[in-house]
Amino acid sequence: MVLTFDDCNKSDRAFVAGEVKKHGFGATFYVTEGLGFLRNKDHYVTWEEIVELHGMGFEIGNHTRTHPHMPRLSKERMKGELAHIEKRCAQHKIPRPVTFCYPGFGHSPACVEVLTEMKYLFARRGVGPEFKDGGKGARGPAYDPGVDHPLLVPTTGYAGPDWKFEDLVWAVEQARDGRIAVLCYHGVPALEHPWVNCDPGDFRKHMAYLRKEGCTVIAMRDLAHYVDPAKGPGDPYAPIRARVAGKK
Ligand SMILES: [Zn+2]
Repeated sequence: MVLTFDDCNKSDRAFVAGEVKKHGFGATFYVTEGLGFLRNKDHYVTWEEIVELHGMGFEIGNHTRTHPHMPRLSKERMKGELAHIEKRCAQHKIPRPVTFCYPGFGHSPACVEVLTEMKYLFARRGVGPEFKDGGKGARGPAYDPGVDHPLLVPTTGYAGPDWKFEDLVWAVEQARDGRIAVLCYHGVPALEHPWVNCDPGDFRKHMAYLRKEGCTVIAMRDLAHYVDPAKGPGDPYAPIRARVAGKK
């Protein structure tokens, strides 16, 4: 299982980090200065808190400067979005991020090229197009390292009102035969984005379940211990098209 948290919600440091650490799990926090990061420090972590997350052993991943819909940007602007977070990490003595998460799950072949050029190892997309996404939590494909491109790692489940405990159980069941289930959370709770909310009590149950099931729970960067990020399909999008075609 890979555990990820998007968007710099205040709960990352105030609640999630302690709960995850309690079980000895790894996790990635995907950092952006977009959304409310610059204006609302009651709802978003500070850079000092991001430094603390790094100090606790968690991965700090790149989630862009302004949280844009990446496919709409030129490659130059994409690079600027990524470079800004790399610069801010360097200023805070956090290592250069090696994994990425697409804002709003928006990706394109040009994004994959930019991430390759900027030497990112893994990038996480959303649950679609293979699975239906109503925008309030959903199931998605498990990541199959023998099939999927490392810069188009799917989300196997993201928390929200439509994603229940049985969906977590289902995600864990998908982590079989070399496949990896990738979980995505936002705020616990998500104060500004209730459509991706997870209640703290539910989150505690989720983590306890992963522990009970004996899951290996890691950060995105730790995939490199199990998967060669240099390997992938010649056409990054071929596995996605094949899955969609296979479902019809
Ligand atoms: Zn985001």
